[in-house]
Amino acid sequence: MAVDLHTHSTASDGSETPSALVEMAVDLGLSALALTDHDTLQGIEEARASADRAGIDLIPGTEISLDFLGGMHLVVLWLEPGPGPLQDRLTGLQLGREGRNAAIVGLLADHDMPMSLEEVIAESGGGTVGRPHIAAVMMQKGYVGSIAEAFDMWLGAGKPAYAHRPRLTPEEAIGLARDSGGVPVLAHPHTLGINRSHEMADLLVRLRSAGLVGLEATYSAYQRHEREGYADLARRFGLVVSGGSDYHGSYKPNLELGIGYGDLVIPDEVMEELRAAAG
Ligand SMILES: [Zn+2]
Ligand SMILES: [Zn+2]
Repeated sequence: MAVDLHTHSTASDGSETPSALVEMAVDLGLSALALTDHDTLQGIEEARASADRAGIDLIPGTEISLDFLGGMHLVVLWLEPGPGPLQDRLTGLQLGREGRNAAIVGLLADHDMPMSLEEVIAESGGGTVGRPHIAAVMMQKGYVGSIAEAFDMWLGAGKPAYAHRPRLTPEEAIGLARDSGGVPVLAHPHTLGINRSHEMADLLVRLRSAGLVGLEATYSAYQRHEREGYADLARRFGLVVSGGSDYHGSYKPNLELGIGYGDLVIPDEVMEELRAAAG
């Protein structure tokens, strides 16, 4: 059976509620679904209640952005809501996000694209607020023609309305994840912006010794040869080949839960491998 180990709901920047996501996973015949909203475990309770009713395995998780040159995302699986070393840091990371959202709204106003933070929060539906919500408001106001254009022209790294926020280092985040009983997986490795294989090798050795367990090789946006390349890389450095769709609902058009752009298959053995490797 297949699983999906990287998804977003209205608890962060996805368009579907946690329970809607579970229902979609059931319809697709997935045996397990990980909910990995940015910097929050807020959606887990709702997702778990639906999953329990439907008889599907719900893996609690989150995705955090780390302090790394090109940008690094870490998916942490089996991270239970409640107090804990990493759990306790999530609120601070969210507050960093709020300060950043206000800064972005200010920068957009400087470029004659006014909007209020309230409009952005309304767009988010009550979960973690992020750049995709700001992009959606920009679209509604006619400032840009698409979410992609909002990022390419204004919101992306180095663009005029880009703002930094405080982040954990990769070692801190991986250590906190392990201390919290979570299983850290390096998400969509292409976004690291590393093209040289020896640099990638050095990084994976460094992250593996910090406690990294998996590498997200089976990812929606990858062609078959890229998936195989990252899978080889993972095995070479003692990491489990993980996978996920990075489903965001209407915020990532045409990308579907479980199957990505149609050809994604993440076998459920991945879960056992991840758990075994984490010990
Ligand atoms: Zn990500
Ligand atoms: Zn994601």
